[in-house]
Amino acid sequence: MTTSHSLAEQLATAIPAARIATDDDSLQRYGRDWTRYTEPCASAVVFPTSTEEVAALVKLAASEKIALVPSGGRTGLSGGACATQGEVVVSFDRMNRIRDFNPIDRTVTVEAGLITEALQNFATEQGLYFPVDFASRGSSQVGGNVATNAGGIKVLRWGMFRDWVAGIECVTGTGEVLQLNQGLVKNNTGYDLRHLFVGSEGTLGLITAVTLRLTQPPAPLAVMVLAVPELSDIMTVFASVRAALPLTAFEFFSEAAMGHVLARGHVRRPFDGSAPYYVIFEYEHAHNEDEAALTVFEQLLEQGVVVDGVLAQSDSQARDLWRLREDISESITPRTPYKNDIAVKVSQVPAFVAELDALLAEQYPDFEVVWFGHIGDGNLHINILRPEEWEIDRFRVACERVNELVFALLARFNGSMSAEHGVGLLKRDYLHISRSEAEIALMRGIKAVFDPQGILNPGKVLGQ
Ligand SMILES: Cc1cc2nc3c(=O)[nH]c(=O)nc-3n(C[C@H](O)[C@H](O)[C@H](O)COP(=O)(O)OP(=O)(O)OC[C@H]3O[C@@H](n4cnc5c(N)ncnc54)[C@H](O)[C@@H]3O)c2cc1C
Repeated sequence: MTTSHSLAEQLATAIPAARIATDDDSLQRYGRDWTRYTEPCASAVVFPTSTEEVAALVKLAASEKIALVPSGGRTGLSGGACATQGEVVVSFDRMNRIRDFNPIDRTVTVEAGLITEALQNFATEQGLYFPVDFASRGSSQVGGNVATNAGGIKVLRWGMFRDWVAGIECVTGTGEVLQLNQGLVKNNTGYDLRHLFVGSEGTLGLITAVTLRLTQPPAPLAVMVLAVPELSDIMTVFASVRAALPLTAFEFFSEAAMGHVLARGHVRRPFDGSAPYYVIFEYEHAHNEDEAALTVFEQLLEQGVVVDGVLAQSDSQARDLWRLREDISESITPRTPYKNDIAVKVSQVPAFVAELDALLAEQYPDFEVVWFGHIGDGNLHINILRPEEWEIDRFRVACERVNELVFALLARFNGSMSAEHGVGLLKRDYLHISRSEAEIALMRGIKAVFDPQGILNPGKVLGQ
């Protein structure tokens, strides 16, 4: 086995030594993502500054069989960016430039390490809009967003990251640089390899730059929170609100989830009343939509499906309401939550939720279960919180036992066991729940074509 000293010397033939880190702090920090279920075990971290350096690194890695883990903002929730077997982490922190902006095409080409929020801000400065948005925007990177096909809170209106990718520059497992689709709107010339890279979680190539489409900014956005006594009524609320308003987001969270956010003391309860569940939704208000929102609220109150509500009266109140939903992940992190990020068709949410609710109550009577999610997309985040006195391993085993039951239910509904967080390390043993044997065999074949030496994020998504 290569010692870390001789490995660093080898790596220095591709990346200047000053941008190779082997100190403990870097290996720990860059060896993990947001999940806390694996111990970091990286051999080195490298910080390329150009596509040429990335290509040279991959060529070296392919000839010396050095495993590489691409690393973005490390906000991933499936262990995709974790280095657990002595891999070399390739951080894109130093590749964060905006290369080109074209106002006619309404596209921007950025390096993979650009922070998502910086992309959003750049679009706004140009009088345009980049609509994909989520709570980790301040840390996640565009390369990581593409590699995970990130979703978030505005998918309902604007779709997933995939929908905004007009071109990808990437380096395959042989060190070849590909320019995929090159920003074109129309390009029917065979297989669209760009889309293979979206959601590939670093297993097919290293993404070095991305061309993204920007759009017209929406009308001013209004935000409302409603209190809902029954989980099964959330979809009734969704149907009514969607029929009345130009929705851009529709999310839900439980009282338990909000309790963790309130406990941090940054925001206050939205109104005096409480209920086991809440929905937060956002709509464009160009004309008299606020009137329509209040009318639908009154109708829902009369039907008894909501018991309280608030419409934000200022931008700062709207931001605080959003924090009730967006701060949940961070506020429960100290409890090492076991996360299920599942999806069914929107029409099947009520039936699925009823069965899942009963299953969780029966299987986790002693654990705190925190629900929230992008319910307007059929996507539920179920977080089981680790009792403080339990060791992580004991807790994980207990959760994995229940996983089997949750996934069996999911299979009956033809759902997805990973709606938007990806498969990574944590969900790879469950891929067969959502993908057939034939599909998995084809995916392995594709991986072998792009990465014949198996050096790119080995063990992620498809297993070894
Ligand atoms: C508080 C919080 C809220 C979140 N909310 C959402 C949400 O609403 N919706 C959602 O979809 N996700 C959400 N996430 C998950 C996460 O932010 C996304 O998956 C995000 O896209 C990951 O980006 P990253 O740069 O942090 O990637 P990382 O975690 O660094 O990596 C993710 C995967 O991409 C690969 N990768 C990274 N960079 C590259 C590259 N340049 N080339 C090739 N492969 C690469 C990694 O190897 C890994 O497999 C949330 C996370 C947190 C912590």
